[in-house]
Amino acid sequence: MPSDSTRNDDAHADDGDEAADSSVGTVFLVGSGPGDPGLLTVRARECIDAADVVLHDKLPGPEILESIPEAKREDVGKRAGGERTPQSATNARLVELARAGKDVVRLKGGDPFVFGRGGEEAEHLADNGIPFEVVPGVTSAIGGVGVAGIPVTHRDHASSVSFVTGHEDPTKDESAVNWEALAATGGTIVVLMGVGRLPDYSRALLNAGMDAATPIALVERATWPSMRVATGTLGTAEATRDDAGIEPPAVTVIGDVAASRDRVREFLANDRVSDALAEEGADRNPEGER
Ligand code: SAH
Repeated sequence: MPSDSTRNDDAHADDGDEAADSSVGTVFLVGSGPGDPGLLTVRARECIDAADVVLHDKLPGPEILESIPEAKREDVGKRAGGERTPQSATNARLVELARAGKDVVRLKGGDPFVFGRGGEEAEHLADNGIPFEVVPGVTSAIGGVGVAGIPVTHRDHASSVSFVTGHEDPTKDESAVNWEALAATGGTIVVLMGVGRLPDYSRALLNAGMDAATPIALVERATWPSMRVATGTLGTAEATRDDAGIEPPAVTVIGDVAASRDRVREFLANDRVSDALAEEGADRNPEGER
């Protein structure tokens, strides 16, 4: 493939014979799943155990992070001052460690290629002639809502599903997410990074003609011991969030499938699930409450 050989040539031009140098380590772009260590893949566990260094943020959750020896963990998420490590610094660190001969796991919440910047890291590694492996994970966008009893598709309720970022201002003209088009699909909409702007994009969907009675669910810290779920409707989305005090990380599910939870929840046996709504959840899993 011409483009690949061009890349290798570039790497050689930059750094001598590095691409062929067996002393260069490998980078593993690993998805941790939503947080329950039981949902790590076998391959993810192998890579973590064999790695010299694990670069991570907070999203894999406390249980998975605590299962990794502190000596090989490096936090590239929020710094003490609350500032995020810039992506360029993480990219540079991956290359630096690999060139020092280390095998590096870049551990990301969920799946590394779903809103995880894994794609940018893969390109940076390729551009620098660093060999890497992608280890997919259970994404919060599917598995994180599934454990709450919500199927993202359902023969009777949703024949399509869209995964979108809620991070952007929906009122901006140049918004990368076309909420009107999403409203028109009639399928499930799963919003990641969408706690803060929930009022804005629910309004955008209502303005686009979606029914105010459309069921919604918010799943916070899915599969963590402190997981919480709140359910409501598109018309009352903000109150659903605020009454329950839902905070990031949480996934928003919009669509008829969100009502599935109430049809099955009594029999959900994987009950790390503690509902944020006190009357539903208080006696089931008190430690999940605030
Ligand atoms: N790569 C991740 C997503 C990273 S973007 C994945 O595949 O899941 C970060 C967003 O993911 C958060 O803002 C939140 O919307 C969602 N998220 C990740 N882990 C979560 C969890 N355990 N519970 C709820 N939402 C989660």
